[in-house]
Amino acid sequence: MKLLQQRQQLVTYGLKMVQSRLTTGSGGNLSILSPEDNLIAISPSGINYDQVTVEDIVVVDRNGKTVEGSRKPSSELGFHLALYAARPEIRSVVHTHSVYATTIACLHWEIPAVHYLVAFSGNKVPLAAYATFGTDELADNVVAGIGGYNAVLLANHGLVTVGKDIKYAFDTAEEIELVARIYYQSKSVGQPVLVNDEEMELVTAKFVSYGQLDTSVSN
Ligand code: 13P
Ligand code: ZN
Repeated sequence: MKLLQQRQQLVTYGLKMVQSRLTTGSGGNLSILSPEDNLIAISPSGINYDQVTVEDIVVVDRNGKTVEGSRKPSSELGFHLALYAARPEIRSVVHTHSVYATTIACLHWEIPAVHYLVAFSGNKVPLAAYATFGTDELADNVVAGIGGYNAVLLANHGLVTVGKDIKYAFDTAEEIELVARIYYQSKSVGQPVLVNDEEMELVTAKFVSYGQLDTSVSN
């Protein structure tokens, strides 16, 4: 079976996505690029995460042609492929419908630097223009909207994050949801005071050496 380890990670993180309340049912999708194989493993379309098995994961080439698997790949295969093409450094894409990030996306707002943890994305989370789910237009909007950031809100839809591996892309989705909630709540009672650009640059630099340098420590 091709990309077995990546398939297992997608099953695990799909379940985590539901358990962490970042999505419900079969909403959202995830993928991992294996640069050695030049292949992408992606979640299947429309199967609830608690039902997805390693056999259900679809392996495609960079043009989206199925190489292994009998399931239909995620309807958002287009933006996953477009992101790997546009951002050669990324190895994973996570898409969620998490409630607070989506709330901000429904207002067609960006998320500014209301809390330093926005650094998981950059100095803000930008917004991608609305297009119907699963279309080439949405793929174009996602790539244009994310630019060099690690997260982007999809207008009237949800959130997309990217990372050097699935843990980083997933953690970014989780942290941006927290920041979105803080933004929503602080805006509900007053006018949040933003972290300035200079400080955000400092935080971003500190993020590089944050945590354990020993990479065997994971969770
Ligand atoms: P899939 O089940 O086809 O991945 O679609 C879910 C989704 O979130 C569409 O944007
Ligand atoms: Zn979606």
